[in-house]
Amino acid sequence: MGWRTKEDAKNYYLKNKEWIKKRQHELQQEYRRKAFSIIGDRCIICDSKNRTKSIGKHRNTHCFHEIYGKSHKTNSMSYILKYPKRFVLVCRQCHKWIHVLMDVFNLNWEEIKLLRDKLRNG
Ligand SMILES: [Zn+2]
Repeated sequence: MGWRTKEDAKNYYLKNKEWIKKRQHELQQEYRRKAFSIIGDRCIICDSKNRTKSIGKHRNTHCFHEIYGKSHKTNSMSYILKYPKRFVLVCRQCHKWIHVLMDVFNLNWEEIKLLRDKLRNG
């Protein structure tokens, strides 16, 4: 069958909604595992390890942060896997701080890393 109209595509989606959602979720998880193995599974700032919360939903405690962009153009995993060098893994807490440092103090990624090293070494 072909999707000649938007209506066709919509009907197909509605008919197979559960399966499509399940498949999308599986793909996301697969991409995430791949990204963790390339980028790492620890927060680059505080070194805490990513955990997966609430089994079933598979929500991660950490997220990928795009180091050269203030706003994340896209959160798509395929984009992250295409340009893994542009991303680091951070926990939610540090992620918030990174954006405060970037947005309020206008620090760039190199300056944030320097600050992290200073804080670590006392
Ligand atoms: Zn952290």
